Amino acid sequence: MLTRAFTLVAILLAAVVSAEAQAPTAGSPVVAIRAGRLIDPETGTISSNQVILIEGSRITAVGPGLPVPPGATVIDLSGLTVLPGLVDTHNHLALTYKDEPESNVYYFTYVMDSTPLRAIQAASNGMQMLASGFTVIRDMGNNGNYADTALRVAIEQGWIPGPTIVNSGIIIGGMGGQFWPTPEMAVDHTIVYPEYLDADTPDEMVKAVRQNALFGAKVIKICVDCKPWGYTVDEMRLFMSESAKAGLKVEGHIQTRDGARRAIEAGLWSLAHDGPLDDELHKLMAQKGIWRAGTETPIVLTGHTTKERYDRSVKGLRNAWENKVALTFSTDADYYVPGKTRGEVAIEFLQTWKDAGIPARDILKAMTTNGFACAEVEKVRGPIRAGMIADLIAVPGNPLDNIDALRDVQFVMKDGLVFKQNGVMTPGPFFNGGPVKGWRIR
Ligand SMILES: [Zn+2]
Repeated sequence: MLTRAFTLVAILLAAVVSAEAQAPTAGSPVVAIRAGRLIDPETGTISSNQVILIEGSRITAVGPGLPVPPGATVIDLSGLTVLPGLVDTHNHLALTYKDEPESNVYYFTYVMDSTPLRAIQAASNGMQMLASGFTVIRDMGNNGNYADTALRVAIEQGWIPGPTIVNSGIIIGGMGGQFWPTPEMAVDHTIVYPEYLDADTPDEMVKAVRQNALFGAKVIKICVDCKPWGYTVDEMRLFMSESAKAGLKVEGHIQTRDGARRAIEAGLWSLAHDGPLDDELHKLMAQKGIWRAGTETPIVLTGHTTKERYDRSVKGLRNAWENKVALTFSTDADYYVPGKTRGEVAIEFLQTWKDAGIPARDILKAMTTNGFACAEVEKVRGPIRAGMIADLIAVPGNPLDNIDALRDVQFVMKDGLVFKQNGVMTPGPFFNGGPVKGWRIR
């Protein structure tokens, strides 16, 4: 029996090797983009008449008047402004609560939508974000049983188009997470579980990080102060050291001033939500270089903030900018606004940044350069320069003059493939009947 088992393993391995040997090896197609204007958001500069050469998924050269290699496909964006794709550092692609049937109470969404359904919703929301120019998304929890990992892997293996996903797996919190479950729910872990991963003791904290890492998280998210017991500075440092073993950073969801202060003292990578952050805490965040994912809901998204809350968000964002806090663009988008795609909901958040009086150049930097760094993708994708993966978008206006130009994304390239052209989605080349980028991606 043992011999037969070995033989079977050998046959399976041989099949794997031969499947890999049959992977396409033909030369990668060459694309030349003629960019009327090209923005470098890092420096806030714009240059005219640039040519971007792309081979396969990578940019190989960028410059004025570069010769176009024979046989290259030319994409004429000479009437447009080309810039890197955008980043939302806090979205929930696998959660969409609605007026009907949940009265916008997301507690009920967990009860009514299965994880598989939510994974498919996430695939759709991801494409909607990509169509609005977002090529990188940090997906920060509330994904049922790892729908976020399924989404990331499906995109990375090459089944469907979507942004690059940096996902958190299940949000880790003290008992109850962000909810106040009934005893039946909490003790038996039914109904609204697994939305939160309970971790109340050091052993449970270590194990929760390991569970998320094992099941495909690329960042760890903890509820710092969702309950009065919250996490101490030392407990947060334990989360950080355990996450670091798997190469992961820790984001803290904060909702009280004391929790925020502890999170800053512990030195978490990023903080989500602006509620408790004030001038003193902003100064401490700036000193430590902690990313701020403020999730400042604009007043135009009626029913998702209040006038009072919005005014506080605008003042807080302004104060953070004045204190030179490391700002990222983040939406916390997790709901349906009738008539709008998920991408159109996200881009509405420009309103808050404009009302805070932040210059267009700095808004764009938060949406690109800072976003790539916060998501830790900046060494491989983001900036438009030789050697980087080809993710880029184009708009008719100049976002450095008027940030609302980003509301009209006409062209999107992701991984060297055209996802949107002349304002119309053209996702055909992304769809494949198998894992064309390899089944080993997990
Ligand atoms: Zn959130």
